[in-house]
Amino acid sequence: MFIYLHVPFCVSRCVYCDFYVVLEKYGGKEAYVEALCREIELRFADIDLSSFPQGIQTLYVGGGTPSLLSSQAYQRIFQQLNRYLPFAPDAEITLEANPGAHYSEMADSPAAYLAVGFNRVSVGVQSLNNVELKKLSRLHTAEEAVAFLVSLKQAGWHNISLDLMYGIPSQTPQSWRETLQKAALLDVQHVSMYGLKVEENTPLEKLTTLRAAKAQYQLPEEDAVVAMYFEGLESLREAGFQRYEFSNLAKPGCQSRHNLNYWNNGDYLALGVAAHGYWQNLRYENVRDLTQYLANPLAGESQACPPSEKLENAIIFGLRKSSGIHLHTLEQEFEIDFKEKYADVLKKYQGQYLELQEGWLILKESAIPVSNAILADFLTGI
Ligand code: SF4
Repeated sequence: MFIYLHVPFCVSRCVYCDFYVVLEKYGGKEAYVEALCREIELRFADIDLSSFPQGIQTLYVGGGTPSLLSSQAYQRIFQQLNRYLPFAPDAEITLEANPGAHYSEMADSPAAYLAVGFNRVSVGVQSLNNVELKKLSRLHTAEEAVAFLVSLKQAGWHNISLDLMYGIPSQTPQSWRETLQKAALLDVQHVSMYGLKVEENTPLEKLTTLRAAKAQYQLPEEDAVVAMYFEGLESLREAGFQRYEFSNLAKPGCQSRHNLNYWNNGDYLALGVAAHGYWQNLRYENVRDLTQYLANPLAGESQACPPSEKLENAIIFGLRKSSGIHLHTLEQEFEIDFKEKYADVLKKYQGQYLELQEGWLILKESAIPVSNAILADFLTGI
């Protein structure tokens, strides 16, 4: 079983963030842990546990800033999960954490989270340039991020992932290169490299459009952003990473098994306020309001996912992986003749953007900047 667990608390809100976030200063963490335990009890009551002989294969605790919950809180949550299903002996158990003032936004020491069972940490570094970090309103400096990573390693964390961002206001090819070079020296196992998106109704949207702030929040041109993406791939490859998804690179053997399950279109249970799950042909979203969630952890919406939508998702997510889609498996699962069903799309893109290799359909790396148009053609036809 694959489980995502959402923790909404953050110390402050970053200007670009459109996630469901609750500021830590308003409290509610103890009640939240209790509501999570209640949700676990309610959801597991309906699950046939004999279908999961491998136990919990991955647990990803994302946010928000999950490291703001104490290690004891996680001990309580893990015990509650394990009342129903044990962790697999090789389970991947990830904690998202942010560097912050005084090195970290962790409620406990890095060692304390290892002791309760976490074995992978994903750190929201974003940039190793202090001007860019300020533009993103991150609470840490580049130096604090590096010190935090050093403290994680000293505490015994051996599976560390970094989030890095390109396309930041005022970022230049040179400053991005410097961030990449510094990141390469940090001896981490995984990097997620995201292009900044200016989401609607975020403070960043205002800053990039308001005349008074516009000059300071000038976004790099689209061509420059694409160039930064490829520069990122090249630089991280030189440092020993391999790309396994559009935005994710890992050292050999260190791919995120939890995220691979998303891209393999697998089921996952989602727990927590505003969490999105995909479970036994249903897509569901827990209510995006902490008060309502505390009152009823099962409040939210769900929608059936018909086979046509499952097929679309299998294509969209599968082509994100550098390994692509295994056509025979897809054809068997959905009872289709792929080459016949998508003959027009293949005719249009095969060769330049898509390639077939030993039964796998692969989106070429050079096609990633135009992938939205290609994937749209798979969904709507040409
Ligand atoms: S730390 Fe992450 S979740 Fe929290 S406000 Fe910033 S971007 Fe959003």
